[in-house]
Amino acid sequence: MNNPGKVAIIGGGLAGSALAHQCKQNGAYPIIFERENALARAASGNDTGLVSPRISAEMDRYAHYFSIGFQSVVRLFSDITQDGAADVAWNQCGTMHLVVDDRKKKQFEKCVKNWGWDKKDMHILSKEDVSKQAGIALNHDALFLPLSGNISPRKLCAYYARDAQLHLGQDIGDHMLGDLDADIIVLACANGLNNFELARHIPFGAVRGQVTQVRGGQLSASLRCNLNYAGYCTPANEDGLHMIGATFQRWLGHTDIIAQDDLDNIDALRAVAPDMAGGLRIAGHRAGLRCSVRDYFPVVGHLGRIGGKDVYISGGHGSHGIISSHMAARVIIDEIMGREPALPEATLRALSPHRFL
Ligand SMILES: Cc1cc2nc3c(=O)[nH]c(=O)nc-3n(C[C@H](O)[C@H](O)[C@H](O)COP(=O)(O)OP(=O)(O)OC[C@H]3O[C@@H](n4cnc5c(N)ncnc54)[C@H](O)[C@@H]3O)c2cc1C
Repeated sequence: MNNPGKVAIIGGGLAGSALAHQCKQNGAYPIIFERENALARAASGNDTGLVSPRISAEMDRYAHYFSIGFQSVVRLFSDITQDGAADVAWNQCGTMHLVVDDRKKKQFEKCVKNWGWDKKDMHILSKEDVSKQAGIALNHDALFLPLSGNISPRKLCAYYARDAQLHLGQDIGDHMLGDLDADIIVLACANGLNNFELARHIPFGAVRGQVTQVRGGQLSASLRCNLNYAGYCTPANEDGLHMIGATFQRWLGHTDIIAQDDLDNIDALRAVAPDMAGGLRIAGHRAGLRCSVRDYFPVVGHLGRIGGKDVYISGGHGSHGIISSHMAARVIIDEIMGREPALPEATLRALSPHRFL
């Protein structure tokens, strides 16, 4: 088995810090270069994010990634938070994926059949049972994932990167890669990836999103699990705050706050849980740019060589970055170390940066 040695990681969001964590776990020496003066200043800086897989009807090459990735992060988050070791605000409250239309109903039924998960970890609930489990009245059946939850992406980045060497305030240009003092380079810089010649052929695009923190409301304290619909809402945290997200604007490339987005987030919640949405007060908001490609699947694997070093990529994590960044880090470390991959060959091909050539 190969020891990766020094691994230079460009980008200090979830993708870069998850990679640093996997490096450390496998005896390598991670060095993160981040252009901002702190980690998690871009898309990964939210206080709360949902940890639930992208649901699909078939267990295809894409679903393998999210299904195996979900099980892997759930094990990891349970391990690292045992005895309060990691302060990442992991709340394993479960997620109700609400059946909001007939298409979702068919998709969820097929998902239960085709994903082959243990019945206790994924099952469909009637609206009566949804309301009992969620703690508030809901008029929808749902696909329930009791092992899922929410976590602080910002704190998770800090935890993942705690043993890495950090170079903050360092904007790495293409011409600098060959001179980095490292054995391997990993590009994990999301919307900065297209600035590197090796990654210029990949059709990355930014998708703006805004989350809204709210407090109050008549039923706020009663909600016991995440709700997922056209958006998502988390139960109140210890400060009484819910995270409601997130808008999805492919055509906007800025992160200024838009007042209408907060109203849209609350309206989306109101459409599925009218009692819960009444009386909520906006307590905060944050906008960020997701990095996606046109097939909405991440871009992970060996990219090429520069200055005699192998270069890997972890990008395009879209709306499911918490699971995706962790799974991407596992894929890259397995490949560097020459280990048996955790994913089927077809999934590795679907992730490859060379799929666009
Ligand atoms: C509003 C919103 C809500 C979301 N909600 C969820 C959720 O509930 N659950 C979930 O799983 N995911 C969610 N996501 C998605 C998730 O946040 C992202 O997929 C994830 O943060 C991507 O991580 P990343 O490290 O690839 O990108 P980023 O966090 O953007 O990090 C890239 C980093 O690279 C740095 N960088 C860029 N160029 C250079 C360079 N040349 N040199 C040095 N550094 C560089 C940047 O400064 C940045 O810090 C959400 C995203 C948004 C925007």
